[in-house]
Amino acid sequence: MQTKLLQFTDEDLRIAGQLIRDGKLVAFPTETVYGLGANALDVAAVKSTYVAKGRPSDNPLIVHVWHKEQILDIAEYISPDAEKVIDNLMPGSVTIVLPKKSVIDDCITAGLPTVAIRMPLSVQAREFLRYADVPVTAPSANTSSRPSPTTWQRVAEDMDGKISAILCGENCQVGIESTVLDLTGDEPRILRPGVVTSEMLSELLGKPVPVITDPKSKVNSPGVKYKHYAPNVPMALDLTADTQKLADYYDKLVAEGRNPVLLVEHPELFGARNTWQIGQTDQAVAQNLFENLRLLEKQYDYIIASYSSHTEFADSILNRLIRSASHHVI
Ligand code: AMP
Ligand code: MG
Repeated sequence: MQTKLLQFTDEDLRIAGQLIRDGKLVAFPTETVYGLGANALDVAAVKSTYVAKGRPSDNPLIVHVWHKEQILDIAEYISPDAEKVIDNLMPGSVTIVLPKKSVIDDCITAGLPTVAIRMPLSVQAREFLRYADVPVTAPSANTSSRPSPTTWQRVAEDMDGKISAILCGENCQVGIESTVLDLTGDEPRILRPGVVTSEMLSELLGKPVPVITDPKSKVNSPGVKYKHYAPNVPMALDLTADTQKLADYYDKLVAEGRNPVLLVEHPELFGARNTWQIGQTDQAVAQNLFENLRLLEKQYDYIIASYSSHTEFADSILNRLIRSASHHVI
């Protein structure tokens, strides 16, 4: 299959919209990461998403909308908490999980009675969704287990020849996936942390909004149990910013014949060793994280990352870093 590279012109957006309605896959930018879009009302199209990504079919998909009225087409009801989130944080980088309507097939939700819904903040994303004119399922547009793509070129790296088109839009500003907020139980819970933090949600809803990340607790967001975000070279993660420890770890790898790189907050502390700046703010770390991993895996054979921020936003970055490193914390 030849993958079309489409631009944000009226003509190309019409083509993208028609491809979606014809049951084809189209990748598109959002503010978080690039998504791999399919018509949520077309079971065969949705199923082909899992094939293109190599994604396990028990990992459900988020349904994307551009207009708030579409939410009631797919969710059974909107609870008072959901209404607050919809009114105050949508469009935005938050996904809400609500009881699903029957038009949402089990293949989208992996058999769960609930559906995850998001309205992206990105104007380009909403423009595409408007031209599609149907709710659109969209996981991140990468091969399953790989770092999510935050530029259209990274989408092409994984998806060229496997999908009908890529809408070549802007680079993603947020860089990590949306916060997944489960609003189906007695209390709201975060199933995946993101740029919309627990603190922001607690303040809005006037109650605690815990982050459920313990892998031993019942996994209600099936996606969190898989290998994820991994570069194709080994990766180690340090959470202390201990320069000596990092330098020693690096030198030991070199002595073993490796060609490692330090992905760190202060590259200037490591002399002549290979280094790469992880980002000077949490926002910059998140924005460039997956891109950095995809860049460094091509030049080096071992990534040693260090991240020591403790802000409210740091949790969501740590959540990705730890899994990128396959839990290899040094
Ligand atoms: P991705 O498509 O890679 O952004 O991942 C989507 C995330 O949303 C995964 O962690 C899914 O498990 C989660 N998700 C999607 N639908 C549901 C749902 N109905 N209930 C709980 N989590 C969901
Ligand atoms: Mg993903």
